[in-house]
Amino acid sequence: MTTFVIPSAAPTVLAVSGGGQFPVRRIFCVGQNYADHAREMGGDPDRAPPFFFTKPTDAVISSDKVPFAPATNRLDYEGELVVCLASGGADIPVEKANDLIYGYAVGCDLTRRDLQAEAKKAGRPWDMAKGFDASAAIGSVVAAAKIGHPAKGAITLAVNGAEKQKGDLDQMIWSIPEIIATLSNFVTLAAGDLIFTGTPAGVGPLAKGDTVDIAVAGIGTHSFTLI
Ligand code: MN
Repeated sequence: MTTFVIPSAAPTVLAVSGGGQFPVRRIFCVGQNYADHAREMGGDPDRAPPFFFTKPTDAVISSDKVPFAPATNRLDYEGELVVCLASGGADIPVEKANDLIYGYAVGCDLTRRDLQAEAKKAGRPWDMAKGFDASAAIGSVVAAAKIGHPAKGAITLAVNGAEKQKGDLDQMIWSIPEIIATLSNFVTLAAGDLIFTGTPAGVGPLAKGDTVDIAVAGIGTHSFTLI
């Protein structure tokens, strides 16, 4: 029997709609995957190859209360569709990519925009701007076996009831199968991996006490309040 010399971390899990739990392995995120958002961030709205960053598993929070992050004066919301993988592999062909997907969830890629701007300017890593505790707010997982593989439909985010982001999944620069195929050229994907697929235009700041409501057609909703 293995004896751990320090306490072993409990697995991070997401509730699955209809029962069961989805164990989270790693969290990958796509940058600037909607043209209007790429423009608002000063990026490339054309089909430049997708780029990726990561969050640690400890970033996951599925509670309806999310602590406001320390060490920032500009915490931004980014409403996103999250892909949840049932299996993995390397160099996955685009036409096989959907076979890896267990299901989907609605998420918020919380971002310390002030730190990200400083990092971009200095050519430094984004980790502390993107990969902090409670930076990946995620709702329950819905199985693809139930809903299929949504490629179009509204994605919206409201703050205190006022709509701030409104896009459509068909506005993604890189489709979900293309994202999986490309990412699998860089890492060997595995069961439990999550992929945040990018956010539409309209990102902006949050304050303590704000309530965030995100909806993705065909998948569901996720809401939380910053405390
Ligand atoms: Mn994002």
